[in-house]
Amino acid sequence: MNKKLSENKIDPAKLHLRGNKLRQLINEMTPHFTEIRQKIHMHPELGYQEKLTAAVVAHELKQMGLNVVTGVGGTGVVAIIDSRKPGKTVALRAELDALPMTEMAELTYKSIHPDKMHACGHDGHTATLLMAAYALCNFKNSFKGRVKLIFQPAEEGSGAGAAAMIQEGVLDSPKVDAIFAYHNYPGFPMGAVQTRGGTVLSGNTNFTITVYGKGGHAASPDLNINPILIGAGLIQEIHELKLGNGQIISITEIHGGSSKNIVPGYIILGGTLRYITLLDRQSLKEQLTITMNEAVLAYGGEAKIEFIDHYSPTINAAAETQHVFRIAHHLLGNEKVVTKQKPARAAEDFSFYLEKVPGCYFFMGNGENSASCHNSEYDFNDALLPHAAELLCRIAIDYLNHEGPNLQKG
Ligand SMILES: [Zn+2]
Ligand SMILES: [Zn+2]
Repeated sequence: MNKKLSENKIDPAKLHLRGNKLRQLINEMTPHFTEIRQKIHMHPELGYQEKLTAAVVAHELKQMGLNVVTGVGGTGVVAIIDSRKPGKTVALRAELDALPMTEMAELTYKSIHPDKMHACGHDGHTATLLMAAYALCNFKNSFKGRVKLIFQPAEEGSGAGAAAMIQEGVLDSPKVDAIFAYHNYPGFPMGAVQTRGGTVLSGNTNFTITVYGKGGHAASPDLNINPILIGAGLIQEIHELKLGNGQIISITEIHGGSSKNIVPGYIILGGTLRYITLLDRQSLKEQLTITMNEAVLAYGGEAKIEFIDHYSPTINAAAETQHVFRIAHHLLGNEKVVTKQKPARAAEDFSFYLEKVPGCYFFMGNGENSASCHNSEYDFNDALLPHAAELLCRIAIDYLNHEGPNLQKG
């Protein structure tokens, strides 16, 4: 399947000339990778269970003549496209996992599992990265350094497949100098690009508050301290907190009580925090803890709070974001490239890579009529595949040929 091109010796400075050959190859391969995308779509697998998906990915990469490492961070797959010329290493990342939900759209390649579905387009991201890998293998002579392909497990929920792969050294040997990834964006014109420097996605932390009162007979309120009343007061206090830009506290769970005539000894409240910097995370935790302590003190009860940090804010590096904007402008024209005004409230474990190496996470439109991600009618738009693959290729090739420092000048 590996196509030998005679035009491989291309002046790296003439990106626009090479682009036509690259696009031609990508267009030729689009039917093959569309089939792969739909095959993955039909066989969705949840986080850390992506065995079949990883096998499909590994098979395709081997067909391209690459050495493939599987089982990284669980079910992750890694391969390196080496130009055999000294230079930097750029990583491109896609996610393998699907979601535990039922697909409702009647597609010819509908999920065969009634309780699993590719509702976030990770099938499309994986097929895009495979297609980019294929093209990069065929254009190896037109860049320096290496491209590391990262297919990671378990992005959804709090699986943190990125962290698992980092722990197993995915960013080392060869050391990754910069990392890029895209996510499809429903409701946005197909193929149009959107991102921003700094925080592009929020971080999230879950919390559990246990409020202790003094339980007893419901007919003797004077002898009890009712934790439900304390909880009600506390929820109101939390609701009235003045929060900073991009800071969110949502109470999403209340558990307590077992009978109409018993005042329970304790109740449990749960919820989630969203924030755009790690400092904000700290200040939200402090505000919530202080508010809780003041509320229980007023009623004579007690309380404890536990936090579990999930994903950090996804923070794009300035130079690498400039790089994505520059390539996207060049490829798509100004009207199809938009600077995102505010960070999204969703969270992403791509944040963990960006805590270690500079890079940029960007969105590409999945079409205005697309159902939203995590909706049972959602489907990745196959028309996006060649556009996304070409953009990933050109981001990598141009980064490697300009060796980073030029990026500072935009
Ligand atoms: Zn998702
Ligand atoms: Zn996703």
